[in-house]
Amino acid sequence: MRPFGTTIFAEMSALAVRTGSVNLGQGFPDTDGPAVMLDAAAAAIHGGRNQYPPGPGVPELRTAISAHQKAFWGLDYDPDGEILVTAGATEAIAASILALCEPGDEVVCFEPYYDSYAASIALAGAVRRPVTLRAHDGRYTFDPAELRAAFGPRTRLVLLNSPHNPTGKVFSADELAQVAALCAEFDAYAVTDEVYEHLVFSDAAAPHVPLASLPGMRDRTVQISSAGKTFSCTGWKIGWACGPRPLVSAVTRVKQFLTYVNAGPLQPAVAVALDSPPSYYEQFRDDLQRKRDRLCQGLTEAGFAVLRPEGTYFVTADITPLGGTDGVEFCLALPERCGVVAVPTQVFYDDVTAGRRLVRFAFCKRDEVLDEAVARLRRL
Ligand SMILES: *Cc1c(COP(=O)(O)O)cnc(C)c1O
Repeated sequence: MRPFGTTIFAEMSALAVRTGSVNLGQGFPDTDGPAVMLDAAAAAIHGGRNQYPPGPGVPELRTAISAHQKAFWGLDYDPDGEILVTAGATEAIAASILALCEPGDEVVCFEPYYDSYAASIALAGAVRRPVTLRAHDGRYTFDPAELRAAFGPRTRLVLLNSPHNPTGKVFSADELAQVAALCAEFDAYAVTDEVYEHLVFSDAAAPHVPLASLPGMRDRTVQISSAGKTFSCTGWKIGWACGPRPLVSAVTRVKQFLTYVNAGPLQPAVAVALDSPPSYYEQFRDDLQRKRDRLCQGLTEAGFAVLRPEGTYFVTADITPLGGTDGVEFCLALPERCGVVAVPTQVFYDDVTAGRRLVRFAFCKRDEVLDEAVARLRRL
């Protein structure tokens, strides 16, 4: 693990605190989630639910996850044996990779990738085979030939994040079909990170489609999501993994020795949140879409070449028009230059040149925070 160092998010958040900068680096909201969820958590804490919950998660949360999967994505998962509650999506991803990969197995993933992927793959002794997303005409795409070339006899699984952090890309039906076909051809599993499942904006080219819902994919997919992003409670660390019984059983085997269980009294509260009416999810998305527009416009006015995201909490932007040539240098200097923190996306690539000039800003912040950041960035 020596090459991994401190995560870029911790590093940049510490820099923001040290310099009094507006922190658009790390993707956490600065407002709380639904009041009914917060009240349910308080009630559970005062109501004596403070001991170890059952290994797979409290029954009402597993039932709520199952109902949510059915209602939004038409997927059937049995709360008893096909759903596992985890310490955030991060643990679900780590436990899935550790459960499914042997040393030397290969994991296909798209880069830029969420930073825990590379570390989890390394912990399993597996090897990552990145496929690079590149910006063309304002949209991130991949080369189908490069995707095919990443698969081989040692491919054990593909790790797919859609909607995608940091690019804001939503994989299209055609792109998902390519991934599914290769999984079938190479008899590979899929692990899907869908923590932004409810953040696809109304002008996106495609809706969110879980890979597990494609023909033949349910039986080979572990589908992962989390409460943190959807309910603005990233500090609660409640995630889940859904899949066919043998896969969820394998993931559970690993998970029980990582954390065993977590956040007992918060689990029933997330069950309450998942039962929110459709209007909650719509309003949540509309709010974030307005914030996206606010920040994209401000970044454009400040001189960045903005790559407008179709979903997630994030926008990426090219620094070339501002004279920047290296995102790491740019982001390290930005707090001193104008009091704003962003994240260089090249740290999420193996092919560093592909991301050299790109930086990521989070827009899951109060409007006045976004406005202040933009006012500062306009001084560049
Ligand atoms: C935030 C995030 C996670 C982590 O989710 P937790 O539930 O906080 O562990 C995983 N994947 C992606 C793409 C994320 O952006």
